[in-house]
Amino acid sequence: SDVAMYFAKEARSGVEVYVAEKDRNSPERLNLLGDLRRAIGGSELTLHYQPKVGLVTGVVEGVEALLRWRHPVRGLVYPSDFIPLAEQSYLMRELTQHVIDVALEQAAEWWHRGIKVPVAINVSARDLLDPALPDLLEAGLRRLRLPSDAIQLEVTERILMTDQAYTADSVHALVRLGVPLALDDFGTGYSSLVRLQRLPVSEVKIDGSFVQRLGKSRDDERIVRSIVDLVRSLGLRSVAEGVETEEVAACLREMGCDAGQGWWFCEPMSAADVTTWLRERRMA
Ligand code: C2E
Ligand code: CA
Ligand code: CA
Ligand code: CA
Repeated sequence: SDVAMYFAKEARSGVEVYVAEKDRNSPERLNLLGDLRRAIGGSELTLHYQPKVGLVTGVVEGVEALLRWRHPVRGLVYPSDFIPLAEQSYLMRELTQHVIDVALEQAAEWWHRGIKVPVAINVSARDLLDPALPDLLEAGLRRLRLPSDAIQLEVTERILMTDQAYTADSVHALVRLGVPLALDDFGTGYSSLVRLQRLPVSEVKIDGSFVQRLGKSRDDERIVRSIVDLVRSLGLRSVAEGVETEEVAACLREMGCDAGQGWWFCEPMSAADVTTWLRERRMA
């Protein structure tokens, strides 16, 4: 439909504004939230998965879970069109719990079949501070007989850059539980490089907006190079997102970036398709 096309175009252009954001109580917005409430727990919401690939080794180091919504009328709706909405409502918590349930089941299916790639789950800021999150994860991991590093949480830069993040009980509980944290979308905003050192993260994901301009913009090249250097000097792993071309992958490899993620390696795909993809790479 036209609406779905509009949504897809918006998501792809990276503009990430929902059409009805102008009006918080617009019928559009309320409709979408209502639809989302019905969709949670049903079959309209699925997770796609996208590999993170070692730039030198070619080894698959993890798989990121990305939400997809097959809306009965609008067609495929991308997360940038409903997650910001959900985040402003009580629905986000339910949505995250649903994502965690599905992602953990998938992680267990892979893990116990010998495909030992950690599944990275995106959590929003508020989820991270939710005191129930560590218990939820711990219970799920135990039930599925998974080690804590069979999953990973990706959290955006913004929240981890606030004082709240390293004083929050939930964050300490997650660290105790041993679930690795990745700092998502690094470089996009509130970065304070000094703080990076104090955060309980093991991985830094360089935002695709910088990565995509490698080879085109000297400034972005300098930014990415300095992030890669800094991340390495702190003993953390760097992962570049949004790698679309061989040229960019080569450039990142030359910079010493650890891993890449993007269409050049593999688009986000259904669990079944990713399983085949992993198999072909003799991961199992
Ligand atoms: P993100 O975590 O930064 O995820 C990377 C986004 O880049 C994904 O968009 C992915 O499909 C897209 N991408 C992958 N490879 C390429 C590439 O080579 N080029 C370009 N231009 N893009 C690429 P997607 O799936 O639309 O997700 C958008 C954002 O929505 C994510 O950004 C993440 O912040 C959020 N999100 C997705 N799933 C979840 C979820 O389950 N929970 C939460 N809280 N947020 C989610
Ligand atoms: Ca992410
Ligand atoms: Ca990201
Ligand atoms: Ca991003």
